[in-house]
Amino acid sequence: MNHDQEFVVQPAPRTTLAVVGQNGRFPVAQIYCVGRNYADHAVEMGYDPSREAPFFFMKPSYSILQHEGVMTYPSLSQDVQHEVELVVALGAGGQDIDVAQAADCVYGYGVGIDMTRRDLQSQAKAQSRPWDAGKSFLHAAPCSALLPRGNASNVDAGTISLAVNGEPRQSGDLAQMIWKIPEIISRLSTLFMLQPGDLIFTGTPAGVGPVLPGDVMSARINGVGELSIQVADP
Ligand code: MN
Repeated sequence: MNHDQEFVVQPAPRTTLAVVGQNGRFPVAQIYCVGRNYADHAVEMGYDPSREAPFFFMKPSYSILQHEGVMTYPSLSQDVQHEVELVVALGAGGQDIDVAQAADCVYGYGVGIDMTRRDLQSQAKAQSRPWDAGKSFLHAAPCSALLPRGNASNVDAGTISLAVNGEPRQSGDLAQMIWKIPEIISRLSTLFMLQPGDLIFTGTPAGVGPVLPGDVMSARINGVGELSIQVADP
């Protein structure tokens, strides 16, 4: 980086995440998300989970909201839903990464919520249009502090859950993931150029549902961390 670099407009602020046990922060680059990666969620959305290759969508980096943040209820929706997900943070990237090498790209893990304007997503699906308006908006990607890979327990299994106002809504196990983390990284790298700082939201178990202004979401993955987010009052 050239520190003498001049810009013609003010650069947008860099999105970062806290890291457990570190003073330094994780610089967020792209945010990738995997669709329908738990069979029970695919079924609840009306799909056959046995027939699909993994597919992906993205969110802008400004959609990150930190632990204990207050989520602005997004515009133009009456049906904003939670999807609790394991987040994989990349410390290295590349293209055409082998499944056997993919685990070496992982920096750490977090607990995220793929917030979704379900009504806008459903309209887009019905019209065969892109999902972006359903998945991308300010605060669409709340994410916990990241736990470095070496400090995390085995993430091949473990309870993943989300409660709203203390009432259980989603509960599953990481072992239910159809596509495993190295397979997801490898597949993504054949489509896109992965970079250090990229985050991957790896899909949600069943039980997705709406939140309302004033609600508090409490997400948890055993061995990874916790995430608490309040939905702002209007
Ligand atoms: Mn999702």
